[in-house]
Amino acid sequence: MKSCGLSLATAAATAFGNEEKKMAAEKAKGQGEGESLSLTVEDREALRELDSTLFGFLERHEDGVRTKTLLDKAVHCYESLILKTDGKVESDFFCQLGHFNLLLEDYSKALSAYQRYYSLQADYWKNAAFLYGLGLVYFYYNAFHWAIKAFQDVLYVNPSFCRAKEIHLRLGLMFKVNTNYESSLKHFQLALIDCNPCTLSTAEIQFHIAHVFEIQRKHHAAKEAYEQLLQTENLPAQVKAAVLQQLGWMHHTEDLVEDKAIKESCAIQYLQKSLEMDPNSGQSWYFLGRCYSSIGKVQDAFISYRQSIDKSEASADTWCSIGVLYQQQNQPMDALQAYICAVQLDHGHVAAWMDLGTLYESCNQPQDAIKCYLNATRSKDCSNTSTLAARIKFLQGLHKDQSSYLAGPNDEQPLFPNGSTQYLRAAVQNQNGLHKLPRNSAPQSHACSHLSSHLATSGGQEDITFTKERKSSGNRYLGSETSRHAGDTSNSCAGIRGLPNYVHQVTAVTISSHNHTGSVSPNLIIADNPQLSTLLMGEANDNMGIATSEKVNNICPTIHAKSDNLLSSAISTATPSPDSTEQARRHGVSSLKSTQSALHTINGEEPENLQSSTKVDLPVFSHKASPQIIPSMSVSIYSNSTEALKACRNQGQNVLSNNHILLDKCPPPRPPASPYPPLPKEKLNPPTPSIYLENKRDAFFPPLHQFCINPKNPVTVIRGLAGALKLDLGLFSTKTLVEANNEHMVEVRTQLLQPADENWDPTGTKKIWRYESNRSHTTIAKYAQYQASSFQESLREENERKTQLKDCSDNESTSSDISGKRRKGPFKTIKFGTNIDLSDKKKWKLQLHELTKLPAFVRVVSAGNLLSHVGHPILGMNTVQLYMKVPGSRTPGHQEKNNFCSVNINIGPGDCEWFVVPEDYWGVLNDFCEKNNLNFLMSSWWPNLEDLYEANVPVYRFIQRPGDLVWINAGTVHWVQAIGWCNNIAWNVGPLTACQYKLAVERYEWNKLQSVKSVVPMVHLSWNMARNIKISDPKLFEMIKYCLLKILKHCQTLREALIAAGKDVIWHERSNNEPAHYCSICEVEVFNLLFVTSESSSQKTYIVHCQDCAQKTSGNLENFVVLEQYKMEDLMQVYDQFTLAPSLSTSSS
Ligand SMILES: [Zn+2]
Repeated sequence: MKSCGLSLATAAATAFGNEEKKMAAEKAKGQGEGESLSLTVEDREALRELDSTLFGFLERHEDGVRTKTLLDKAVHCYESLILKTDGKVESDFFCQLGHFNLLLEDYSKALSAYQRYYSLQADYWKNAAFLYGLGLVYFYYNAFHWAIKAFQDVLYVNPSFCRAKEIHLRLGLMFKVNTNYESSLKHFQLALIDCNPCTLSTAEIQFHIAHVFEIQRKHHAAKEAYEQLLQTENLPAQVKAAVLQQLGWMHHTEDLVEDKAIKESCAIQYLQKSLEMDPNSGQSWYFLGRCYSSIGKVQDAFISYRQSIDKSEASADTWCSIGVLYQQQNQPMDALQAYICAVQLDHGHVAAWMDLGTLYESCNQPQDAIKCYLNATRSKDCSNTSTLAARIKFLQGLHKDQSSYLAGPNDEQPLFPNGSTQYLRAAVQNQNGLHKLPRNSAPQSHACSHLSSHLATSGGQEDITFTKERKSSGNRYLGSETSRHAGDTSNSCAGIRGLPNYVHQVTAVTISSHNHTGSVSPNLIIADNPQLSTLLMGEANDNMGIATSEKVNNICPTIHAKSDNLLSSAISTATPSPDSTEQARRHGVSSLKSTQSALHTINGEEPENLQSSTKVDLPVFSHKASPQIIPSMSVSIYSNSTEALKACRNQGQNVLSNNHILLDKCPPPRPPASPYPPLPKEKLNPPTPSIYLENKRDAFFPPLHQFCINPKNPVTVIRGLAGALKLDLGLFSTKTLVEANNEHMVEVRTQLLQPADENWDPTGTKKIWRYESNRSHTTIAKYAQYQASSFQESLREENERKTQLKDCSDNESTSSDISGKRRKGPFKTIKFGTNIDLSDKKKWKLQLHELTKLPAFVRVVSAGNLLSHVGHPILGMNTVQLYMKVPGSRTPGHQEKNNFCSVNINIGPGDCEWFVVPEDYWGVLNDFCEKNNLNFLMSSWWPNLEDLYEANVPVYRFIQRPGDLVWINAGTVHWVQAIGWCNNIAWNVGPLTACQYKLAVERYEWNKLQSVKSVVPMVHLSWNMARNIKISDPKLFEMIKYCLLKILKHCQTLREALIAAGKDVIWHERSNNEPAHYCSICEVEVFNLLFVTSESSSQKTYIVHCQDCAQKTSGNLENFVVLEQYKMEDLMQVYDQFTLAPSLSTSSS
C-alpha cells in the first residue's frame, strides 16, 4: 500500500462534492490543526486486524475508543488517497475501506466501497469477510433478498466462518420476516448450537424460536417453548416481559385452556406480570385492555388503553379497540373519533374502516359506510373483499338521500378531514368520568391534532340515536368479523416490541428521501408518506432487485455513490411508523442495528473470550477444502492418487497462516437465468411427448429408453403401458390395499378444493402461489373409507344436480345457476393420502413383484439405476410410494430430490392432470417463489399459469389415464392434481448419464447453499459408482473422477490437520448396508471422517456431526471422537482403479 499521508488542505481542495467538504471540515474540527494524518506503521498493523467480522463486537474489542479513532483516521486517509489517485488503487483497498466504514456504522459509505471492490475483484466470492460485510450492510437496509444471498455465500465458501452464528441468527430473522418459517427455525437452531458469541443472547434466540411456532399457529409448541424459557435462570427482564406478554395474549386469543373464565384470568395474570417486568410497554397495556374489554370490564379496559397510549407511540390498533369499546357503550361520536384516529395512523387498517362503516350504517348513513368499506377493500390486508363488495352493493341499492347525523365524508377525502382531538377529549370527558383518555392522547401531533374542529361544530355533539335493528344487523353482519380481525392483527404484532432495545420495527429504517431535494438514485425507495411505508418491505426488495447490474452472479444492487450521503441521512431521520407495515406487524422482527448496546449483557461473556474466539483455536479447520463438486468446470485429473495427494500434502498446516486462500473453491451456485431468447407466446403450450404402446415388445424397444432420457424431452407419457405389459394394476386398487394391509400408515394432507388449474387464497379473493396443507396421519382402511364416501357423496350430489336441472330446465335461470357455482371460495376441504411407504418387501410382496415386469430403465431396482447403487433404502426414491386421491388432491410444484428422474403410474380408476416445466426454467420459478415469499425447495406452491405465461415459461399440460406411465426427466419441474378418484404409484430412477449426474451434483451444492438436506448422498454414491460401475461415457467419467479427487484431497487434508492438532482418529469400519451419514445438526452429508459426540460414542449410538458443527459446539473438539470409516489406501485404490471403460454401442435397457 502506498503512503496515505495526504494533507487535509489537499483533500478539501480536491473534494468533488459538498458532502466531502463538509466531512473534511468536520474532521478538521475534530482532530485539530497540524496533526499529521498519515498512518503509522503501528496503525497499519492494527488496521490489518480490523474487518467486518468485528462488527457488533467493536465495543468489546480491546480499547474500542482508540480503535474508532484509528478507523476514522484510516477512512480519511484512504478516501484522500482514492481522490489523489483518481480511484486507481488496488481492489483490496476498497474492501478494507468498506470494512472500516461498516465498523463506523457508516453504511452508505460501506456499501459504496464494497461495491467498488465487487466490481474490481472477479473472485470476490472467495473473500468471506467481504461477503459478510456486504450482507450486514444489506441487512441494515432491510434488503433481505440480497442479505440472504450474501450470507448464504459466506457459509458456502467457508462453513466454519468465525461469525457463522451471527449469520444463522440474521438468516433466522430474515426468513421469519419473509414468512419462510421452516428455514427460519432451522437457522435459529443452528445459531443456538453454536457456542461462539453473537449479538443476541441464547434466551433471545429461544424467544424467536417460540415466536416462530406461535406465528405458525403451533400454539402448544409455542406455549411450551415460552414456558420453558421462563424457567431459565437469570432470564433478562426484557425477555421475560416479552415472554409473559406473548403467553398472556395467546391465552386471550387461543383456546389453550378449556374453561373460558380461567382462560381470560390466565391471560390477565400473564399480562400483569409482564407489566411488572416492564411497566412501560404500551403493547402489554393494550393487550390487557383487550382482555378486560372481552370480559366486560369496561372501566379497566379504558384505563389500560389510556396507559397504552401514554406509554407507546400511537397505535391504530389501540384506537380501533377504543372505538369498539365506545361503540359497545353506545357512544357513537366517541367511537367515530377513535376510529378516525386509527385510520389516520394507518390508512390501511381494515378493521378500523370496517368498524367505521358499521358505525355509519348504524347511524343511517349508508353513503359514508360505503366509502369506509371501499377503503377497507383497497387495503392490501383486506381478506374478505368479496363479502365487503356484496355489502357495498347492498348499501348502494338502498335509498340514497338519507340525512346525515355524523359528519359525512366528502368525495375527495372521505370521512375524516375533521377529527379533532380537542373535540374528542371533550367528548370523552363529557360522557362520563370513568374513562377519560389521557391529555396527550392524540397519536403524535401528525395524526389528529392538525385536524380542523369541523366535527365539533357540525352538530356532532347532538345525541345520536341508534336504530335498533340497524345496529344489530350491522353488527351481525360485520361485527364479529371485524373484532376477530382486529384481534389477529394485534396478536401478530405482539412480541417484538417487548424487546425494544435491540430489535426495531422494520419501518424504522424507511429509506426516505423527502427531506432532500438533491438527486436520489432511482433504485431507492422514496417514502414520502406514511402509507407508502406500508409497502416498504416488498418494495425494498423489489427495487433493490431491479437495480442489479449485468454481471453474472451479481449480488450487489447498484446504488450510486453520489446518493450515499442522502441515503444515510434519510435513514437516520426516518421515524418509525408503528403498525404501518403488515410485515412488521405480523412477523415482528427487524434489524439488529443497535446490537452493540445489547452486547454488554450477552451471555455474560468476558471480553477475553471474545477476543480469543476471533482467533480460532484450531484454525486448521477453518480453511478446509470442502468437497466442492462443480463438474461443469474444466478439471485436471491427476493420473494417480499418490501424485494427487502429494500435491496437497501438508496443505493443512500451510492453510493455518493464511486467512484468504480457499483452495479449490468454486463460486457459490446460482439458479440459471431464464433461457434466452424467450420463447414466442405461441410456443408456450407445447405438445407433450407421448408414446403409445401396443404390446410388450414396444415396451422393451431400446429407443423408448433413449427417448425418455433425452434432455430435450422434459417429460414423456408412455400411454397404455400397463395394458401392453398386462400389469395387474388391481394389486394397487384401494380394495386390494385394504385387504393386504389395512392398518398401514397413510400421511394425510388436508387441502382446499381449488377450481380447475387455479390456486386462490382461502377467502377466494386473489390468486396466489402459496399452497399450504395440514399434515396428519391415518390408516389405509380409514382413508379407503373416506375415498369411498367421497365418491358416494359426489354421486348423490350429481343426482341432485340432475334433478334440479330438470326442474328448472323450463326457465332461464339455469345458466346463471351454473355460473353461480363457479364463485370463488369458501373452498371445501379434501384429504389427500400421500407418501404411503411400500418398501416392506414382505408386506407388499405381490405388488412389488408385479413391478419387476417393467422394462429395466423404469424398474425400481436395476443395474443401470444410480439409486440402486446407493446401497441402502431412501424411502420413496429407490422404494415405491403410493398415493390415494380424491378429485382435487394436489401435489404442489417441485423438482424431484437431487433432480433425479421419476416414474409415476396411474392405477385409476380416475385421471390425473399434470403440469410440467423444463429444467432450465427452474431459476424463473425460483424467482417467482422468492417474490411470493416462498422457498422453492421447502415451501408448498402452486404456480399461477398466467404468471408463467407472462414470463414466457413453457408449460406442458396433459392428462394421465389409468395404466399410463409418466416419466419425469432429470430436473423437470412439475405439479399434479387428481381429476377423479384414483391411486398412483411412484419412485425415482437415476439413469447413468452425464446429464443426470451433473444435475444431481448441482442440486447437491444448491441444497448446501440453501441449508436443505440432500436426500441422495452424492459423495457416498460417487464412491459406490466408482467401485461398482464401468463408465464408458467420457463426460460422466470425468465428472465422477473429479468429485472423487476432491473428496480424496479433503479427507487427507482433514485427517492430517486433526492429527497435527493431536486429535486421535479412531478406526470404525463401515458395516454392510450402513447408510450414508448426515450431520445431526446441519444435515450435510458426512463422509469417512465422522465427528461423534463422546457420550454417544460410549453408548454406541454415534450421533454424527460434520466437522464445522462439531467445532461450533466444542471449539477444541474435546467432546468429540473422530471415527474413520475408510482407509486412505482403500480410497486411493478405488480412485486409481476407476478408469474409463471402452465404449459399448448400447447401454443396458
Ligand atoms: Zn453440520
